Amino acid sequence: MTTPAPPTERETLERYEKRGGLLRGHFRLTSGLHSDVYLQSALVLQHPEDAGALGEGLAAAFRDEGVQTVLAPAVGGIIVAHEVARALGVRALFTEREDGVMRLRRGFTLGAGERCLVVEDVITTGGSTREVVQCVEEHGGVVVGVGSLIDRSGGTAAFPVKRVALATLAATTYPPEFCPLCKTGSVAIKPGSRT
Ligand code: ZN
Repeated sequence: MTTPAPPTERETLERYEKRGGLLRGHFRLTSGLHSDVYLQSALVLQHPEDAGALGEGLAAAFRDEGVQTVLAPAVGGIIVAHEVARALGVRALFTEREDGVMRLRRGFTLGAGERCLVVEDVITTGGSTREVVQCVEEHGGVVVGVGSLIDRSGGTAAFPVKRVALATLAATTYPPEFCPLCKTGSVAIKPGSRT
């Protein structure tokens, strides 16, 4: 059986663009910040063909790591974990925040020393991934890698394990009062709204 070549950075971003999951312009994000890039993985991952191809691509980078289980933070990472796990032939689990703490719920368990891969759709600060890593370690698992479809951390999210992203994306956010795009007279758009 031949494995298809992993998608290149360009192919990954093209999948996002084709599905409207990556827009460039002047946006008002849910957080209230303004940005020159709008990223919404759910618009890509709603298409199983795209989710499968991206999952296979990320899985390919970790094929030799002896991964036994793939984990992701709910909700955004669940489909990514599922598709990566499918490609590796292993389990896909997800963590959820309970009282502000990332936990394994729903009867999910890890064996002692179980080799885990933590994935996300997009790594921004790396905070969620770090919480999942901590959760895995508390359950006796060993994190052997960290993967994301897109890295928009600008290289600031570092982990002491193998780290792979299919694409990196420079995206800058600004408080509205400091937004250079606003200063040019442009008006920020809230993606997904028609107003
Ligand atoms: Zn602005």
